[in-house]
Amino acid sequence: MAAATVSAAFAASAAVYGDCPDAKHAWAVHDWNRPKPHRVSVSPSGVPSDAIVLFDGTKESFSKNWRYQRKNADPWRIADGAMTVLPAKKGSGVMTRREFGDCQLHIEFRHPASLAKDSGYAQNRGNSGVFFMGSENGYEVQVLESYGTCEENKGKPGYIDNYTDGQCGAVYAENPPLANPLKKPGEWQVYDIVFHQPVWEGDRLVHPGSLTVFLNGVLVQDHWEMEGQTTHRKRRPLKPHPKAGPLALQYHGSEVSFRNIWIRPLESRWANKTHSAMSADERSVSLLRRETAARLYSKIANPDACDAETVKALAEVVAYANEGIYKEKFLAAVRKFNSSNRRKSDRVSVRETLDILVRCGVVPADIVK
Ligand code: MG
Repeated sequence: MAAATVSAAFAASAAVYGDCPDAKHAWAVHDWNRPKPHRVSVSPSGVPSDAIVLFDGTKESFSKNWRYQRKNADPWRIADGAMTVLPAKKGSGVMTRREFGDCQLHIEFRHPASLAKDSGYAQNRGNSGVFFMGSENGYEVQVLESYGTCEENKGKPGYIDNYTDGQCGAVYAENPPLANPLKKPGEWQVYDIVFHQPVWEGDRLVHPGSLTVFLNGVLVQDHWEMEGQTTHRKRRPLKPHPKAGPLALQYHGSEVSFRNIWIRPLESRWANKTHSAMSADERSVSLLRRETAARLYSKIANPDACDAETVKALAEVVAYANEGIYKEKFLAAVRKFNSSNRRKSDRVSVRETLDILVRCGVVPADIVK
């Protein structure tokens, strides 16, 4: 939202426009100097250009990206654009050859249509799972055929009872899905998942990490903060582990197909050391602010001038680093500006700039004339 109290012209030309950088923020509010996001284009099939494609339907991409968790495992079936885990004597999950930490994952899965007529034990209905950070110490988002497992179905034909924190869309053994948007078995289902691992400083847990899960476009895990590593029957608290691990797809003795798998590694917001009230460290912030100040100062044609544009440009520099030559030139320019006759529009725009610096404690109030 653009503030109604400033003109569009001021907004477009102001070097200092919003609250200034501070000890935890290397950038101002509405900072035009802040780096812009990188371009990502999306293919017609929906794959972002910066994603790592983990399975594109071919045998080559399966063998390039995945390996079996068990030695001499019975192989998965790779056919019709899908990789399918089948009930087998030497059944095995698969895991990626590469390791990942925080990430955005897209994966599609399908259960056999025949499960619609199967009234067996709920946990055996097409059980698999998406494990982040490997299956030993990782975090599972459940894959299961649980179309019939919803409150509205209770007591009706097709109702499949189950423990709720184990149905499809659950963070297994921790949190049930918020809704059941599954399609019937035989149809492709879509998971889009954002995973952030727990953050530790030594043995101190800084943040438990989170799972945000969309199933068929519907939010089923809303930034669920993990309570532990995936478990069965017993609670298992979080504990430190390596910062990267393979993505794994579980073998649970059921047939489940997967396709269109891609992943985008993400940076944790806790890695942001230069602009975050939660995680920035003051030394990194200060270094970046000084770097920006030096860059901006070098662009000022004549720092000894005292026209409105120079005063505002120097104000921007001191907003980042109010010290040394920057401070000296800025104060001299303001003094000269104040003591000379200026157009009203120049006085107004300089005044607006100085007001922001005063408001943010960069300069004392008596600088404003
Ligand atoms: Mg499972």
